[in-house]
Amino acid sequence: MHRFQKEISSCIDCKKCWDVCPANMVTEGNRFTPQGKIESLAKIIAGEELTQDEMDNIYLSTRCGACDDVCPVDIPITDIIQYERELLAQQGREPAKTTAISMNIIERNSPGSMDPSTRFDWVTDDLEIAENSDIAYMTGCWIAHSQPDIARSTIRLLNHAGIKPMLLKEEKCCGLFLIDNGHLEEAASHAKGFVDYIESLGVKKVIASCPGCYLVLGQDYPKLYRELNFEVEHSLNLFRDMIADGTLKPGKLDYTVSVRDACPLRKSKDVPRSILESMGVEVKELFDGKHVCCGGPAGFKPNFPEISSDVAMLSVQDYKKKADMMISYCPFCMHHIGGVCKSKDEELNMKDISVLLAESIFGDVKEAES
Ligand code: SF4
Ligand code: SF4
Repeated sequence: MHRFQKEISSCIDCKKCWDVCPANMVTEGNRFTPQGKIESLAKIIAGEELTQDEMDNIYLSTRCGACDDVCPVDIPITDIIQYERELLAQQGREPAKTTAISMNIIERNSPGSMDPSTRFDWVTDDLEIAENSDIAYMTGCWIAHSQPDIARSTIRLLNHAGIKPMLLKEEKCCGLFLIDNGHLEEAASHAKGFVDYIESLGVKKVIASCPGCYLVLGQDYPKLYRELNFEVEHSLNLFRDMIADGTLKPGKLDYTVSVRDACPLRKSKDVPRSILESMGVEVKELFDGKHVCCGGPAGFKPNFPEISSDVAMLSVQDYKKKADMMISYCPFCMHHIGGVCKSKDEELNMKDISVLLAESIFGDVKEAES
């Protein structure tokens, strides 16, 4: 019996995963269902040739987890997809773009092979940053190179609450892409290098505002390497607590918003909502509360740009039906959806929640840029 055979054979063909998968939602003919993805495992293990659709289906997944959440017999669908990708990579059958991005992370610590000397270009003179501290702020690749406002607002809010964090000068990509694509040995060695570096600085707490960085450091690194000698905290959890104890006092904003929930934090959707509530902002739920990914991560966007754009547009179309603005707490959602709207000349009013919170407290509310 091969790995996951028992789990896959427990499928009761209910098709619940079909309806929640964004890849399947935007394509015709149910060619790209989660059920179909896991059914290819036996062929992959046997090294058999896959049809183009079968191959594409394995990589047409952001590993958002929506399918895992609805499967009534708890098949670990995203773990199976990760294993399939691990095998395909070992067999030399991984898509070239996935290999190239993985190599960028392994060799240059950045999925987009960005110049490491520009990683902290977001730092402005008004931000109070310590040379050494027990508390470090992890910027993350997408915030550093695409969404610097998130880092600036987060540091402003932390400073306002009396926290002056240090930065991780030799910060690396967290490696989520490696994990999503089954490059687990490389991810483990990446985790070791990064954890050892953070611990060598004497850091006791890392604050991340990227949901991916937060979960990879806090949950994946202990499995890939070992228990960490520091705590990992998401900035939104801190802000929620600081609002509750009166350290941060949000001003009132008269907006109706929809929230573009981040897949890695989809189990704690109450946190951003409590922050929005503290600003007096009304929330109208996207997709009536159903979780739908932005369509960007894990190689979905570079390998399938058109399908990925169609998935991004689901969120845009839905928020426009019910709200003034779409609020995000994931830099990659911002980057992906922003890029898609720009390429289509589609108006977009989307803002990160930390940016909105800083504006509500410091009183400089600006229109989001499209
Ligand atoms: S993880 Fe998300 S994108 Fe991947 S198969 Fe499941 S629902 Fe589809
Ligand atoms: S939700 Fe689970 S049981 Fe239902 S079809 Fe999908 S994999 Fe099978």
